[in-house]
Amino acid sequence: MTKGADRPNGTCGGETGGILTIDLDALAANWRLLRNRMEGNPCAAVVKANGYGVGVVPVARRLAAEGCETFFVAHIEEGVTLRQALPGPEIFVLNGLSPGSAPSYRAHQLAPCLNDIGQVRAWLDHCADAGPTAAALHVDTGMTRLGLDPHDLETIDLDGLRALPDLIVMSHLACADEPDHPLNERQRGAFEDLRMAFPAARASLANSSGLFIGDGYRFDLGRPGVALYGGNPTPTRGHNPMRPVVRLQARVLQVREIQDNCSIGYGATADAFPGTRIATLAAGYADGYLRAISNRGTVYVDGHACPVVGRVSMDLLTIDVTKAAADGIAITPGTLVDLINKDHTVDDVAADADTIGYEVLTSLGNRFHRQYVGGSGE
Ligand SMILES: *Cc1c(COP(=O)(O)O)cnc(C)c1O
Repeated sequence: MTKGADRPNGTCGGETGGILTIDLDALAANWRLLRNRMEGNPCAAVVKANGYGVGVVPVARRLAAEGCETFFVAHIEEGVTLRQALPGPEIFVLNGLSPGSAPSYRAHQLAPCLNDIGQVRAWLDHCADAGPTAAALHVDTGMTRLGLDPHDLETIDLDGLRALPDLIVMSHLACADEPDHPLNERQRGAFEDLRMAFPAARASLANSSGLFIGDGYRFDLGRPGVALYGGNPTPTRGHNPMRPVVRLQARVLQVREIQDNCSIGYGATADAFPGTRIATLAAGYADGYLRAISNRGTVYVDGHACPVVGRVSMDLLTIDVTKAAADGIAITPGTLVDLINKDHTVDDVAADADTIGYEVLTSLGNRFHRQYVGGSGE
């Protein structure tokens, strides 16, 4: 899995634009930290969107080896991929039971999150024919996105639901990253009421941030996603308790010393002057280095900060290396430049792009050479 690690330090071959390194030991440490916050209750892992862009199979294998027994994905197809890699754990599919999909759930031992009355009825009918099988009941307590309206519970057969094996009753917090937001407490209260109707089920409310906003939010099963991958679950406190999991390095294609006043890149949005040194890197927005970072981002060469200048284009971006070069840093074609590292994290890059770490992670492209370091769990 670490092919490419034999390359000389600080360079990579020309086959790809760069190297995406995923630290599975950091991932495992993050899961243990989150599980410890559950104080004895289990902690699931949300691995939708290909493990937040990081790679669902290596992620889930390692977390299963750490003791994670419950995974959440968004789509059935994601669940099938995960099931093929891991026969053991429970896998819940957040986006629910679409018409005709019950046989797929059964064939691959997946469990649907039942998000509306029709899905509850369809699953109970299916279970009446084929035998009771695990599901989660997803009730919307104030996010207005997915899940049953709590009033809908008055219209369905709760005994049928209560009889499902391994039932989870879940809801999702809309503002957990803002601990003082009043919606948190309203959702918690509504969830508390609702879980009373299912005394034998496992109750699950907290996402990553929800595990940090108070004891009352943890219930029986944690459901973190982004914090596993190093995203900060406590953005209002600043300090990130998680370990960085992702490092992204892009290769220098060209370095030039500007001779005459000129502009840089599409739209001529930046200027360069004689003596300026501009390096062009083999990564762009098609690799998930968002175009919004144009003229705003910072990258690191050997620890030296270099500004992104000009527009990020599809496969290329340009940086000003004048100062780094003056400080004696060698920058030549093949040099690897850090776009994301432990000092300039996924969340920092997100801030440069006016977005959130989730979007940076899930945008990470497939063209980089991917290497997984740390124990694989196999
Ligand atoms: C994505 C998701 C999570 C995980 O959220 P994070 O903020 O990434 O921890 C948990 N529950 C549901 C329903 C989700 O959609």
